Amino acid sequence: MTTDRPVSLDRWKIHKFGGSSLADAACFERVGEIVLSLPHARLGVVVSAMGGMTNQLLSLTELAGQGSAFGDDLRDIGGRYEETAAALVPGAVREDLVDQWQDDARDIENILQAMSKAGSAPGHGSDIVAGFGELWSARLLAAHLEHKAGPARAGRWIDARQIITVRHSDLGPTVLWDASQAAFDRQVTDDFTGIAVITGFIAADEAGKQTTLGRNGSDFSAAIFAALADADELDIWTDVDGVMSADPNRVPDAQIIHSLSYNEAMELAYFGAKVIHPQTLGPVIDNDIAVVIRNSFHPQHPGSRISTVADPDGEIKGITAIGDMALVNLEGAGMIGVPGTADRLFAALKDAGVSVTLISQASSEHSICIAVPSSLAERAKSVISIAFADELAGGQIQSVDVTDRQSIVAVVGDGMAGHPGIAARFFTNLARAGINVRAIAQGSSERNISAVIDSDDATRALRAVHSGFYLSAKTISVGVIGAGVVGGTLLDQLHRQASRLRDRFNLDLRVRAIARSSRMLLGDRAIELAAWREALAECETPVDFDLFEQHVNPDHLPHAVIIDCTADEGIAGRYADWLRKGIHVITPNKKAFSGSQQYYRALREAASAGGSQYFYETTVGAALPVIKTIRDLVDTGDRIHSIKGILSGTLAYLFNVYDGSKPFSAIVREAKENGYTEPDPRDDLSGMDVARKLTILARELGQSIEIGEFPVESLVPASLAGESIDGFLAGLAGFDDAMQDRFDKARSDGKVLRYIATLDEHGAAAVGLREVAADDAFSSMQLTDNLVQFRSDRYSQNPLVIQGPGAGPEVTAGGVFGDLLKLAANLGNGAH
Ligand code: ADP
Ligand code: ASP
Ligand code: MG
Repeated sequence: MTTDRPVSLDRWKIHKFGGSSLADAACFERVGEIVLSLPHARLGVVVSAMGGMTNQLLSLTELAGQGSAFGDDLRDIGGRYEETAAALVPGAVREDLVDQWQDDARDIENILQAMSKAGSAPGHGSDIVAGFGELWSARLLAAHLEHKAGPARAGRWIDARQIITVRHSDLGPTVLWDASQAAFDRQVTDDFTGIAVITGFIAADEAGKQTTLGRNGSDFSAAIFAALADADELDIWTDVDGVMSADPNRVPDAQIIHSLSYNEAMELAYFGAKVIHPQTLGPVIDNDIAVVIRNSFHPQHPGSRISTVADPDGEIKGITAIGDMALVNLEGAGMIGVPGTADRLFAALKDAGVSVTLISQASSEHSICIAVPSSLAERAKSVISIAFADELAGGQIQSVDVTDRQSIVAVVGDGMAGHPGIAARFFTNLARAGINVRAIAQGSSERNISAVIDSDDATRALRAVHSGFYLSAKTISVGVIGAGVVGGTLLDQLHRQASRLRDRFNLDLRVRAIARSSRMLLGDRAIELAAWREALAECETPVDFDLFEQHVNPDHLPHAVIIDCTADEGIAGRYADWLRKGIHVITPNKKAFSGSQQYYRALREAASAGGSQYFYETTVGAALPVIKTIRDLVDTGDRIHSIKGILSGTLAYLFNVYDGSKPFSAIVREAKENGYTEPDPRDDLSGMDVARKLTILARELGQSIEIGEFPVESLVPASLAGESIDGFLAGLAGFDDAMQDRFDKARSDGKVLRYIATLDEHGAAAVGLREVAADDAFSSMQLTDNLVQFRSDRYSQNPLVIQGPGAGPEVTAGGVFGDLLKLAANLGNGAH
């Protein structure tokens, strides 16, 4: 909890609205409503220029400096202002505003023409032109508030140039407090009540000339006014809900920070969090004024509170990056043990007006590395080269190098102090994302750790570090390929369980991509699973598996898994690539794991190289725990001697039903009509499906076998292999007698026919139709059940038996879901 003073209705309250909150007439209306709903007797409302206006004005000065025409652009600016005014204030007031604008436009033209003649855009002229945006906003908002609330409450606006006086130095503008306070007290008397709109950004210098507080400086203006008015709180209204854990434009999962200490906010601002201008905090800290960052588009949100004390919401508060930096590296064995090298270096830089953002010195003192804004890099290099000219000539210092296009990424938080492991986590996440760190610095306050990296890597770095610190370790991005019976059922199951998994296990499963044969659906944060069918039906994005993969595996999420619910060989051929990139794979598709021995090995290697995992329990016996059982037995030291199983639900069904009373071909036809077979029943009767399953089991035992190396009895007569499906079904009747003979022979021996796969510990494998005794476990089967028997050292007298439904969308999808939970459990254990 914070211990701020209670907010009094009589004391001044300062609110600041940035350009993003004042982009157009609708924004002004919204701001008007917020301001007029505030109960305080004395309100100062500091405004920025309309969003983008300062840039528009500055581009006029650039045009003029280059001697280019600026007239059209200036008219566009006027048009925008007039249009906004027309929507906000009645006719007569609008005309006044437009007249004033025309006066201003003439002044601007004069300045720009002088710039055109001089062939440059001098700073003072640019400052004057740039500052008009704030004047126009203030006049317009004041007029609008007066129109809405009447002159007793509103209508007044204050020109900050009359109040704030600053002196410019290398460190930026310094406020001359006494002069500014005296001006404020003169202009705003003690008995003032109502709403005063105040221009942000602009001020006067000691000579009384107009100046600005620097880009984004309206936040600073607001803080200065809060101090001058002795306000007890400053609210900065912008277009996001508050200070976020990272720039939301770069890190989609950025979270709101509810409360920050002044120091934390200062570090974040210094290292580039644009939401607050870095100088803003000086005046409020000195006067113990709480700052609240809020969203003018979402005023009911409480925002972020910045004050002396902050809730210790964890070890770090935010992650930021500043770009456009250069590293200047001074290297040489001659610096070792020589006192004063650093002093000379910084004295030279200070004299040249180069501000240093980060310093890192190797402990051997063999090199000193500084990060400076790119624009100052060459100046820094030349002053260093001059300061150390003797050492460079004498060879004690070998070189002064500049590396450009660098960014500084920083993690910030008061809670870091005395908390071991933060730096490790920071650098591990950078390393995992393959980002090279060029220099490192940690403030002695232990409130920030910063790393210098290539600018091209900056967004990826922010995302990787953010996910390492902020997201649940169990946030998993999920892509599903194949939205037919199994895939579709899985998506429905995920939808039903999502909130329970989140609440109970902190497991955040985000289905971000679904692909079916021709199209794919990509979701921004996640696809809304309540309506995935409709969204997929409507979406027209053609399938592109490279895009699919990139979308499922973005930098900002810690884990990604692709679930392949097809039986497609081409997709199975992509697993190795995915696994190598760290994407986990889950599938009921047998093609990859029963494919060539070479590909099977490649999958293992890819998974170990990528630190990824794959699960395929449902390739054998649907959700029955067949593969898990083998792993558990082997891992706990048991030795499996043999496996014997009915591994095809379809073949199980056909021979359960076949009792000699009806021809076998009729039973096949009925089974097909009832949906118990593949669309082409030969896919089941060929035995290949069973052979693939047996191959998978053998490989789990460490055997290297391949399809084609062991006997597989096909129940498809060779002469019917090339027929159409109907032709096959008709032709099969010609083989009914042969099947009947086998059945009768078995029956005369007291046996039944079953389609069985066998494997022994020496790799002898076989698949085919066998006779089994009527009292054998394999004879008394139910419908489409699968049955697998294991004989092992432990289970030698009596085999371990797994039996149950081995097919069907609900159980198969459930098994895939189970694999996903196993993956999540492993991730939670620190594995990745
Ligand atoms: P305004 O016009 O209100 O001054 P700015 O554009 O200057 O607004 O600042 C708000 C913007 O700052 C946000 O829209 C966001 O894009 C950006 N930003 C950068 N870092 C952060 C952060 N850590 N938290 C919140 N916003 C941030
Ligand atoms: N309008 C100025 C700018 O764009 C100041 C501000 O918005 O804070 O830099
Ligand atoms: Mg701003």
